Order: sequence, then structure tokens, then C-alpha cells
Amino acid sequence: MICLTLSSKTLAGCCDEIRRNRDYIDIAELRLDLLDEKEALDAKQFPTMTDVPVILTFRRVSDGGKCSLSERARKQILLSALDGDFAYVDIEEDVKKNEVEAKARERGIRIIRSFHDFDGVPEDIYSRIHKLIERGDVAKAAVTPHSIQDVLTLFRIADELKGIPKIIVGMGEWGIPLRILYARAGSLLTFACDGEPIAPGQISARELKLLYRADKVDDRTAIYGIIGNPVLHTSSPAIHNPGFHAINYNAIYLPFLVDNIRHFFTLAEYLRMRGFSVTIPFKKDVLMYLGNITREVKQIGSCNTVIRVPGMWKGMNTDYYGFLHPILKDIESGRISTALVIGAGGASQAIVWALRNRGVKVTILNRTLSRAESLATLNLCEYDTLENARKYEGQVDLIVQTTSVGLYPDFDANPIEGFVFSGKEIVYDIIYKPRMTKLLRVAEAAGCTLHYGEEMLLEQGKLQFELFTGYHYPNDADYSAFA
Ligand code: NAP
Repeated sequence: MICLTLSSKTLAGCCDEIRRNRDYIDIAELRLDLLDEKEALDAKQFPTMTDVPVILTFRRVSDGGKCSLSERARKQILLSALDGDFAYVDIEEDVKKNEVEAKARERGIRIIRSFHDFDGVPEDIYSRIHKLIERGDVAKAAVTPHSIQDVLTLFRIADELKGIPKIIVGMGEWGIPLRILYARAGSLLTFACDGEPIAPGQISARELKLLYRADKVDDRTAIYGIIGNPVLHTSSPAIHNPGFHAINYNAIYLPFLVDNIRHFFTLAEYLRMRGFSVTIPFKKDVLMYLGNITREVKQIGSCNTVIRVPGMWKGMNTDYYGFLHPILKDIESGRISTALVIGAGGASQAIVWALRNRGVKVTILNRTLSRAESLATLNLCEYDTLENARKYEGQVDLIVQTTSVGLYPDFDANPIEGFVFSGKEIVYDIIYKPRMTKLLRVAEAAGCTLHYGEEMLLEQGKLQFELFTGYHYPNDADYSAFA
């Protein structure tokens, strides 16, 4: 079940939240501690105001909530609310056998017994969940993973507790795989927010339902993902998930924040992942874990796509293809025969290789000259420092911007400030957030032909989809809805 945590201060506001999310959720959680005091006293009528089952929760400050009343006062308000037809009531681990529990039992309201850990994953999590189940109908552990190893531990514990009615929540950004793959972890439900997340790690009900189809995950769902650090800004789930949906493939693609690549490979094997995308800073680090790599990966020296093949992981690179696709015709027709590539980082490696592989004469400009020199030597090109950019005005057919200068939120940064375009150049900025960078704005004003980073992103993703699934990316996949 997808559970919407209601955050309005009034009962009417909570009803509005449910209405906005009605198509995406199965249940809602009414948090008395988030309501205005007077509204909390009327909470018993809330189940009659909505058609979704409701969990009743009154969270104390010590458990991450806002209730600072005495325990006696808190219990009184909970007891009064339990006159309403709630589906569940959440009672914390340390609350002894009490009237709230007795009244819930008498009224047929099921009990969630919960504990919270905002510092980490407690070592005794397994035995604590076991004990909770003796005192409630469902055990809930909300803990805070701080590494990919913690995430693996939580999936393992979830499997060991198979059959026990439970909810395991991974709080914070590390916990995202647990939130999305809650059904794989055997959790009764996952908590979702209304609209934009207000804390790292939260996911909206709409995204869980429409983008990830998290409630459809079962034991046969093929798991794919993207690894990186940072990774949560990625648009790749918006490409792959609609593609899976359009071809009727029982599969899911989600972001994994990673700190240790070896631990991630252990998790990938544990979850029997079929493949994953790789982004900054792991495109080189993955290489030593791959049993097989393609010629492109070998020559470019970086890998952005990993798939499972019998007995091993295989690495491929789709960045070079994604970059080339929008300008291939211009290279083949001879309109592009010379290029200036700005930047000599990871993305530039694939781009320079792609251009050289197609016979384009390339000059690399980079802030750090030694990096430009190494890349130029490897690919038989010219190189220079970024300050000398104006020397190349009017000299090349294609200008490719591959640095991170101009990336969101630096809308007004341009790595070749002052460069004068003739208007005949094709200018390609691989940054995709924002779509229109400062460099592209200047180039457009001069009359140049533009290409955008999102074209590269989409094309590399489409080829990756083909490598993941064996199918062409479907034309009817709606990747724009969540991009
Ligand atoms: P990277 O390996 O970290 O390389 C960063 C590059 O930017 C280096 O050349 C670096 O120069 C340069 N740079 C950074 N700060 C600079 C500054 N203040 N002034 C001048 N140069 C600066 O990163 P990457 O993986 O190549 O990614 C670079 C960009 O490409 C990112 O914005 C990324 O989002 C984008 N990208 C887009 C796609 C796509 O599909 N559209 C795919 C991959 C990457 P030094 O060598 O001097 O440090």
C-alpha cells in the first residue's frame, strides 16, 4: 500500500491532500501532532470525512514528531480519537500495555507498534522487530541508513523477517531504495508525501504510483537502477520506467546513492539486479568489478552501463552514442569536420573518442592543461588552455561544452565568456539542467545551430534501455511526465 502522510494543520486540509492524491494512494496517516490543537480534539470524525482507510498517529518530539504534551494528555487525546473508525493506530515501542491499546483492540482497530532511530540502524533491529510483533499486529521500524552497506543490511533483515507483518522505513536519502522497493522488502506499506518532498528521501505519492509503480513490484520484478553520488537529481528513472511500462515489462528502475562500489555490487547481487546505469563519480571505479567490457569501454576508459550476463557483470558505454546521435548526419555530410571540445573530464573522454572515431579533427580546451594533454595524446588531437579559447573563434564547425560550468543553479556561468561566435557553428552543451545554458543563449543570439544536453541524455538512455531489455525504446513511452 502507498500511504500518504497528511501534513495539513486542519482536518479539512487533510481531506484536500487526500483528494489531490486519491488516484495514487491506498491509505493515509493522520498525524495528530501536525494538526492544530483544536482540530486534533475532533480527530475522531476524520475517518467519516474520507473514503480511504486511515492510520492514527500522535508522534512525540522524541520520535521525530511535534507532540510535546505530557504522556497522560497525549493518551487522553488518542483515546478520544479512537472513537473514530480508524484502520490502524500507531503506538510506540516503549508505551506499556495501556488503555489506548485496550480500546483499539475493543474497537477492532489494528495496532502498529513502532520505533524510530534518527541516528542509524540499531544493531538489535532484528530482535526489536520480533518483540514488537508480540505486542501489535504490525511492527514498524523507521531507521536511518548512512551507507549502501546499511541499505543491504536492511534488505537482508527484511528477508529474514519474511512472513512477519512489518513496515521497514529507511529515513533520509540513503533510504530511498527501501521506500521504493518496500514490497520487495516485505513491508506492508510505504510512506509518501503530497507534491514536492520537504525532506531528503521523501517521495511523492504520484511518483511512487505513476513513475515507479512501486505498488506493482513483486518477487518477479526485474530491478534496474542508477548509481552515483550525488544521484537523487537524476532524470534516468523518468526515461526507463515509462519505457518498461510501455512494453509491459515487469521491471523497475530507481536511484541508488552509493559510497562504496564494492558494497553496491554485493547489494546488486543480493537483489538479483539485471543492470544499472553509472554516473559521477563511479564511471571508472566500476571497471575492476566487470568480467567483460566492450571495445568502447576499453578505449574510452569509462563505463556508464552495466548489465548482468551469465556469471558476471558486463560493462558498456552509451554516452558516446547518445552524444553522437543528434549530430551524426552533420558529420556524415561533412558539415562537421572540425571541433572544439571544452573540458577534459569523464564525459569529455567519451565525446572526444566518439568524434575522433568518426574522423573529426578535435582541439580540447581545459582549465587544467595536463588533463587536456593526456586526453589529446590518447586520441591524437590538439589541446590548449581554456583562456586561449578566443584563438579558435571562427575556426571550427562544432563547439561542444562538456564542463560543469553553467550547471543548475549557476545559470549565468559560461566557461568561454567573451567568445565571439560567427553564427555558422553548431554549438552543443551537454548540460541538461538547465536546458538553455548561458553559453547556448549567447550562441543562439549569434545565429548558431544548437544542441542540448537532454538530447544526449535521452539517446544514451534509449540505447541503455535496449541493452537492458533487448527491445527498442518504445515510441509511446511518456518520458516527459517526470523528467
Ligand atoms: P568531471 O569528470 O568532473 O569533469 C568536469 C570538467 O569540468 C573538467 O574538465 C573540469 O576541468 C571542468 N570544470 C569544472 N569546474 C570548472 C570551472 N570552474 N572552470 C572551468 N572548468 C571547470 O564531470 P563530467 O562527468 O565530465 O560531467 C561534466 C558535465 O557534463 C556535468 O555537468 C554533467 O551533468 C554533464 N553530463 C551530461 C551528460 C548528458 O547525457 N547530457 C552525460 C554526462 C555528463 P578541470 O579538469 O580543470 O577540473
